Amino acid sequence: MEKGDGQRKGPKFNIYWIYGIIIIVLISAQVFNFSPELKVITEKQFRDNILVQGDVQKLDLVKNKEQVHVYVYKDRLNKDFYVKQFKSRLDPKKIGNSPIFSFEVVDWKAFEERLDVFCKANNIAEVDMRVVKAPEWFGPLLNTVFTLLIIIVAWVLLMRKMGGPSSGGGPGGIFNIGKSKATLFDKGAKVNITFADVAGLDEAKVEVMEIVDFLKNPKKYTSLGGKIPKGALLVGPPGTGKTLLAKAMAGEAQVPFFSLSGSDFVEMFVGVGASRVRDLFKQAREKAPCIIFIDEIDAIGRARGRNAIMSNDERENTLNQLLVEMDGFGGDTGIIILAATNRPDVLDSALLRPGRFDRQISIDRPDVKGREAIFKVHLMPIKISETLDLHKLAEQTPGFAGADIANVCNEAALIAARKGKEAVDMSDFQDAIDRVIGGLEKKNKIIAPHEKAVIAYHEAGHAVCGWFLEHAYPLLKVTIVPRGTAALGYAQYTPTEQYLYNTDQLMDQICMTLGGRAAEQIFFGKISTGAANDLQQITRIAYSMVTAYGMNSKVGNVSFYDPTQENTFTKPFSEETGKIIDEEVRGIIDEAYQRTIQLLTEKKEQVEKLAKELLDKEVLHKSDVEELIGKRPFEEKKILEVETEVAAEPVTETVSSVPVEQAGDNDTATDSTVIA
Ligand code: ADP
Ligand code: ZN
Repeated sequence: MEKGDGQRKGPKFNIYWIYGIIIIVLISAQVFNFSPELKVITEKQFRDNILVQGDVQKLDLVKNKEQVHVYVYKDRLNKDFYVKQFKSRLDPKKIGNSPIFSFEVVDWKAFEERLDVFCKANNIAEVDMRVVKAPEWFGPLLNTVFTLLIIIVAWVLLMRKMGGPSSGGGPGGIFNIGKSKATLFDKGAKVNITFADVAGLDEAKVEVMEIVDFLKNPKKYTSLGGKIPKGALLVGPPGTGKTLLAKAMAGEAQVPFFSLSGSDFVEMFVGVGASRVRDLFKQAREKAPCIIFIDEIDAIGRARGRNAIMSNDERENTLNQLLVEMDGFGGDTGIIILAATNRPDVLDSALLRPGRFDRQISIDRPDVKGREAIFKVHLMPIKISETLDLHKLAEQTPGFAGADIANVCNEAALIAARKGKEAVDMSDFQDAIDRVIGGLEKKNKIIAPHEKAVIAYHEAGHAVCGWFLEHAYPLLKVTIVPRGTAALGYAQYTPTEQYLYNTDQLMDQICMTLGGRAAEQIFFGKISTGAANDLQQITRIAYSMVTAYGMNSKVGNVSFYDPTQENTFTKPFSEETGKIIDEEVRGIIDEAYQRTIQLLTEKKEQVEKLAKELLDKEVLHKSDVEELIGKRPFEEKKILEVETEVAAEPVTETVSSVPVEQAGDNDTATDSTVIA
């Protein structure tokens, strides 16, 4: 993932600004507050010591404070009275244009009369007087503002601490929190990535080609009344080139590319996510036609509020806003939204509805051929020795994603440079691969050769079983390229259009699912944990047969199917029946396993052929299999839809048994056969 490339280029919200603000506020507080303390005297003192002396420059009648403020001529300040009052000589400069005495007045009318009489009696020229209003609000307001500022500053600092440098610190800083952080790569200028830069991914490229074509000349489609998809979901593990493909689409179509990560939407501030979405779409509408790319959409797109305690209002608001925006523009606006995720299963189903992300483009880890192509792309800028064998490199990097390969190429160049070589050769690549594997082992599964063999035979076992069992789904593709986080390899079948299954079909399905484990047993004499998922599936099917479908003669035509799971504590059958159920389930599975072993022992040669080819090619399509072991002996039924069966599990996973209560309500293919 190319996080941060070109992102957040705007002016950074600098920490020094905060210091600056604090200093300015402090200084201004000083300036505004500066007025030497007014000495409080009595009216009599004022009359007898100041007024009579003719020292009064002017008076401020502060009526709202019931005070008179006295200004004194500066050249009189060294008189004894003043020195005594202030206990020091006053500095005229410091006083500036401020009053120095204040006395209290209650009745203004009476005061003015008194003053008048006094002046006349003492022959004092009229005193300069003006009525002023004390800026009552000033002090408190300044206080409030100041406190507020401190709080804001503390808050910003805290947010930055908690959320890392990214939150609250986007372009424009806290004042732009609601603005989307989408990076805009301008038309033609920045996106110079094309499909040529994306190696492999041929199927995905074909799928997105239509979208690119639409962006190039939308009229062609809209004039015919056709509706173009608004969005597509790129599904695949990290580093497989989802971002790259999205960028290449923008590059090919020559349209602006907005890219944003799902986690960017979800901030600590309430309402920010939704406003970011709004802003993003506003920007996009201005630049249409364009492509919006949302990486890690599962950060916002997780299924909403199933669990009241775990629900996250902010994320839900963001998701709702995204849905609203996606519904808000017509297909002819020219905005295409692409989103990437590794977990399409956790996404809210609303996101996958028609008119939203209704297309899923799956991007798997590359196979040998794909890896070779990716190597080719990334070796372009590198000076390589002539002896370098691309195919060998590809073979040595099973399970590597595109990003890992890019990493290997870079590492190899660095290693060669360190050794002072002229060109990068095979040994540098070997070192680089080792290094990357070392770094990856914790992150991804990189498969050791002997494990790869086990996986190949396991998958070959599934494939051969499916091939020679009449009622099994026809095979579509079998692969030992690890997929996602769950499977080490898998076989893909095309399910037939079918809602009712008979016992034979279910038995064949169990056998096919057991094919992996049986092959391990036959060829290696020992079994591995790789079949945990398989066992889970067949346990479910077998329990369903006995307890839900009435397919067992001993238990009879009863169904304990309990979709509401009300009977979590009390089982609807007796202890004895429970025992029989367990026995019968075991019987079914044992029988199926024996049958599978027998079948695969007969077809040992075919399994071997497939496994060897798998080790070499990693992916076998139906046509490859036909070539190797001949046509499938049973005619195929109508192919409807491709469904993936995950056939092998990570070696770390243990076999988990499925309790009786769960039987029958699971997502096996047989689920829909439950007749209520
Ligand atoms: P994702 O978005 O799926 O996590 P990216 O698209 O960010 O992965 O891929 C990261 C980098 O890996 C890319 O920039 C590119 O260098 C390299 N890469 C991944 N897949 C491919 C590919 N199919 N062809 C060429 N380079 C690839
Ligand atoms: Zn399996």
